[in-house]
Amino acid sequence: MNDIRRLLDYAALDREIWDEELENFVPRKIFDAHTHLWNKAFSKDANPPNDWENYNTGLKELQDISSLFYPGRKIHFLSFPSPVRNTDHKGVSEWAAEELAQDKDSRGAMLLSPEISAADIESFISRHANCVALKPYFSMVDKKMPSITEYFPEEQMEVANAWKMPVIIHLPGVAENLLAELEYYSSKYPEIKWIMAHCAASFESGQIDRTIKMLADIPNIFYDSALIYDTETLKSLFVHENRKRIIFGSDNALVIGGCRRNVSFKFHGRELKIFRIYGELIAIRNAFRNLEISSEETENFFSRNAETLLRRYR
Ligand SMILES: [Zn+2]
Repeated sequence: MNDIRRLLDYAALDREIWDEELENFVPRKIFDAHTHLWNKAFSKDANPPNDWENYNTGLKELQDISSLFYPGRKIHFLSFPSPVRNTDHKGVSEWAAEELAQDKDSRGAMLLSPEISAADIESFISRHANCVALKPYFSMVDKKMPSITEYFPEEQMEVANAWKMPVIIHLPGVAENLLAELEYYSSKYPEIKWIMAHCAASFESGQIDRTIKMLADIPNIFYDSALIYDTETLKSLFVHENRKRIIFGSDNALVIGGCRRNVSFKFHGRELKIFRIYGELIAIRNAFRNLEISSEETENFFSRNAETLLRRYR
């Protein structure tokens, strides 16, 4: 864990922020439902475009990151390979499934690119009972704002529907055509459980309200909180959505997602840049305090909702 502390440059001041702001808020048990695993051995790029691709994140690293950020908590994960395009996608998912199998309470999702066939998906999920979800990703295609079926073809949706699987879907942006498309396919494939990553990509304040309204009629919609540090977005979600459909996620992996330090926070009169995961947790705490969310609902958000959604089905 000391290596990870050094690598992330986690300092005494970071621990003070945890102790003063979060220790009394974050429950003892956490199911972190948006995390990434990565192993550069599966990359086809000799010179990867992103520096973080040089750092491997296996289950052990994910556990160490979490023990550092959430000290003293019992932690399990939903995890999936980082969506790097020029990669052996099937290979990296096989490796990730085996990493996660070392913890019987953690779950995996198969990383998809549009070329992966229905037969390949069925073969994979048949062999890995711990992989209960699918993870298509918009950056697997060349377009800037692809439609959902361009990166998650119907052939793949059919498998998800037949197996009643959760699908973690990251929208390339908040756009009416994408939300309408999602509404259409959710009624065509009613058994899919759609987990909207990053609160349906509602990174900016005010975006979430329109999304919630548009998606309100979809019965199988869930939201993860990964990288949302806007208290108002989280408040809107908890006021207007079914609270059993909102799950905690950090986007942690070395040295990306929640492990990046770029959220502004005033602490003891000093303007600091804090880790994104702490920015997110502080925003969640502020929203929950404001709405007087009960401790039972807090525990549901941090672990039970995801555990129920990601139960093994075989
Ligand atoms: Zn992510």
